[in-house]
Amino acid sequence: MQAPAPSLAPNAYRTCNACGAKVHREEVHKNRYGQYICKACRSDGVRAVGRHRFGHLVQRMPTALVAFLVVLAVLVVLPLALVLLLELHSYSNAGMVEDLKDLLRSINPRAR
Ligand SMILES: [Zn+2]
Repeated sequence: MQAPAPSLAPNAYRTCNACGAKVHREEVHKNRYGQYICKACRSDGVRAVGRHRFGHLVQRMPTALVAFLVVLAVLVVLPLALVLLLELHSYSNAGMVEDLKDLLRSINPRAR
């Protein structure tokens, strides 16, 4: 009976995600992102591969996006609200003048 070692051999190796080298699984470290980093890379200070650093940037994006939307809201919504407020203000002024004229007419029918 022969040991099935040759068929298991490929499973004993991992591809380093940083340099692409085939390394025995006992020689690689699996980081928290599920990446395999070989000893040589780890001694160079590699703990994760760039793709996940980009992931961190993406995770920070919402903050920048929210800040952008807030600035946009201040720049667009605030002037709109001011214009709306001014229009309402002028409208109520005109209405008030008409009300005063009506009031004057009711007091003195000859007033114009
Ligand atoms: Zn490596």
